Parts: sequence; structure tokens; C-alpha cells
Amino acid sequence: MRNKIVAGNWKMNKNLEETAALLATLSAKLPDTGAEVMVAPTFVNLPGAVRDLESSKIEVIAQNMHFAENGAYTGEISGSMLQSIGIDTVIIGHSERRAYFGETDEILAKKVTAALARGLRVMFCFGEELEDRKSDNHFAVVERQLKNALFSLDAGAWSKIILAYEPVWAIGTGETASPEQAQEMHAFIRKTITDTYGGSIADNVSILYGGSVKPGNASEIFSKPDVDGGLIGGASLVADDFIAIINAI
Ligand code: PEP
Repeated sequence: MRNKIVAGNWKMNKNLEETAALLATLSAKLPDTGAEVMVAPTFVNLPGAVRDLESSKIEVIAQNMHFAENGAYTGEISGSMLQSIGIDTVIIGHSERRAYFGETDEILAKKVTAALARGLRVMFCFGEELEDRKSDNHFAVVERQLKNALFSLDAGAWSKIILAYEPVWAIGTGETASPEQAQEMHAFIRKTITDTYGGSIADNVSILYGGSVKPGNASEIFSKPDVDGGLIGGASLVADDFIAIINAI
């Protein structure tokens, strides 16, 4: 049975003090919904966050990792380094990494393989751009992104995969996919996985929606049968908004 998940991607926001303050408020107000709750602070704040949340049910996850184990990659961080500070889950393929840091399907496939080889859980992000949707190519783009990064994996690896469908045109823009658009794409994703790996794997993978989820639209999006939660950017930086979105699950 797949899990419900609400994850906050804090991107390059919140310094040390601000991170500690937001974590303290979230821990104190965390509702017991049965859903997994995760937050992804910046790299420098990960060790402190892991310590601060030691006795909390909120999981601290990382926003990115390099595929190499170690070596001459200035400014990069490896999966084993993340594990050494107590991180079990890493986001890979966020659209900002693809757009601003040149992360191609090929690079992302290497990252996914490296993370899984270390036993990390992967939250894999993907989604079409506005032009793709306008030209009716959105299904083909999503299928290509999934196939290139994930469809060489063994069936067993899928227990460590969480998917986050994030249409690029909805990220940070205030423009949300309608609940029907989200459901339509999530059902397509599940069917695409079924066609390659079978129904049992497809039914058990959590597929999150991301893109301008707010307290006002979360319930309707989360009510769709193939939407298993959300990856939240801007609204996860405001404790009351993030708590309201967690409650919506
Ligand atoms: C994101 O960056 O993953 C995201 C969904 O951002 P926002 O909620 O701000 O659109």
C-alpha cells in the first residue's frame, strides 16, 4: 500500500537560526495525519535539522546529491556524506536543477542509480514545461523523463522510489494544475509504470503533485485518487501554511 507524503522543499531559503525556528514550530504543531512529513533544508543546515528533529516524526531529506562517491567535484556532496549525517532520502531531478544546473536525463539516471546503490530513498521530480503542454506534448515529455531516468532499474528498486510530478509552469508561479489535470497525469504515470513493471509496482509507488500547492487548494488536489500527497515549495516556508497543507492530506 502506498504512503501519503507531504514534503517541503526549502530550496535556498532560511539561515541557521531561521531553519531552527521553523523546525521548532513545525515539530510543536505537527498534526498526526498518518502521512509521512519531510522537510528539505539547505545542505549547511542538514546536520542541525537532523539533530533538532531527532525525536520528531518529521524526516529531514536532502535537495540533491552528486553521483560520485567522492573526488574532485568542488562544491558537490555525495550520497555517503548525506548518510553519514543521518539522511535517508534525497530529492533528484528538481526542475530548478534541470533548468539552472544543466542536469540532463542522463545525469539524473546516474544520480538515481548511485543513490539507490547506497540504499537511499529517491524522490524523483519531473514534469513538462508550458510549451510542452501548449503543444500537447506533455504526456510524451513525462514518459521520456521517467523512462530515461528510472526504467532501467530492477523492479526491486521501486520500493525506494517516490515520484513528484511537478509541471514546470506551476512551480513558484501561483498557477496550479487543476485537480483534474493532476489526476489525469498521475493516472498516466501509473499506467506507464504498469506497462513496464506491472500493476503491483505501479499501485505501490507514491506519486506526489508539486506546483503552487497552498492551504486553499491542497484538499481538492489531494482528494484525487492517484495523488498521494505533495511536494511543497513556497508554502512550506510558512509554518501555518505547511501545517494546513499537512492537515489537508
Ligand atoms: C517546488 O519547487 O518543488 C514547488 C512545488 O514550489 P512551489 O510550491 O513554490 O510552486
